[in-house]
Amino acid sequence: MSASATQSASSASSTDSGILAVSSPTWLPPFSVPSGVASSYQTSRNTDPTLSTQTLNLTAYPEPWGTPTTNTPEIQNVINSIDWDHVPNATVRKALSNGDLDMNGYDYTTDPYCWWSDSNCVKPKVSYLPEDIYYCPRVGDWGLTYDDGPFNIPDTGNSSWAEPNLYNFLAEHNQTATLFYIGSNVVTFPAAAQRAINNGHVICIHTWSHPQMTAQSNELVVAELYWSLRAVKEATGVTPKCWRPPYGDVDDRVRAIAWQMGLRTVLWDEDSNDWNMPGDGGGNLAPSTVDGYFEGWIENRKNGSDNAQGHIVLEHELNNSTVSMAEKWLPQLQQTFNVVTIQECMNISQPYWETSWVYPTESNPSVTNGSTSSSTASASVTSGADGQSSTNAQDKTSMAVGQLVPSLQLFIFLIMTLKFLRIF
Ligand SMILES: [Zn+2]
Repeated sequence: MSASATQSASSASSTDSGILAVSSPTWLPPFSVPSGVASSYQTSRNTDPTLSTQTLNLTAYPEPWGTPTTNTPEIQNVINSIDWDHVPNATVRKALSNGDLDMNGYDYTTDPYCWWSDSNCVKPKVSYLPEDIYYCPRVGDWGLTYDDGPFNIPDTGNSSWAEPNLYNFLAEHNQTATLFYIGSNVVTFPAAAQRAINNGHVICIHTWSHPQMTAQSNELVVAELYWSLRAVKEATGVTPKCWRPPYGDVDDRVRAIAWQMGLRTVLWDEDSNDWNMPGDGGGNLAPSTVDGYFEGWIENRKNGSDNAQGHIVLEHELNNSTVSMAEKWLPQLQQTFNVVTIQECMNISQPYWETSWVYPTESNPSVTNGSTSSSTASASVTSGADGQSSTNAQDKTSMAVGQLVPSLQLFIFLIMTLKFLRIF
């Protein structure tokens, strides 16, 4: 919860842009920031090779990786907070036994619910939802994302690639990333989430049990998101404003519920297919094929043919194979691309509802310990790219101050220039 909560979602109204206004969730327990966890953006990086294996209080959560419970007062509170008139009434899809979705009966030509699995649609058909985030606008940017973490230390077998392996590698390469966390993995390994946030990464959520979300009832959509948000909040003290649907499976019904729970939908425009390599929870794609994708992206950037936009790339911290692949290619990507978090390239300085957290962005790179320097505070004015902060009263206040300082500087600069030109 944040002190900035000024408007409950049940009284949601439209903003100037027509996007449904949302505010800080009021239905999470008031967890305080755990000891040892930062409460604002830090520039120091911890590479200690060990992490505590202490879990959160698992009795307060559904069975990890199981279908989440919906019959609790906590879930009812969220359901009651949602304006269901602003949730499109799309049919709940069916998942087939082989894991595919049954697309029978859906009109893919008109795609009435902007169903990504059917059409790769990213622009909702209802005017009150924002477009999904799926690429970095600036040419040469590589939006670095890892899904399915935090990678827990396995009970058996080779755990050498589990966290903090990737986070330490990123720290040693002066790199931050956007991490899409599975709630079930956070409750069983909260120390990994704490390391990630202390090391400057951005945490978004990726559901509790990783289902196809268009195949979940409204109550289950709420539960998948709620338990994940609760886990991240209890482990780290932050409430993310971003989520990524497993398999990219989202439609306007699911988007609308997520949006009213404070979450902007994030997809990708390039898929490394690393998730399909052999490994725990993986498939049978040859690693050489994945190497080929990375080689192709680097080649296209170098030869100038990749010049339309930057990218957001789907990678995973799912298992040993995906983490070793990620570490193999990162140094070469850094030589070719401007490798950034999604929030950096989208100029979203505040990815959480807790306003003490301010991250560096491309338009405002100088952030020190959670506060912007006065010379660059204007960046917060343009941070409305996430469509959420602009509806937050506290943000509006800080924006007004942010606008004032650079305006004064500009005014003084103009006076000096005019004096220099002897205009007066
Ligand atoms: Zn996933």
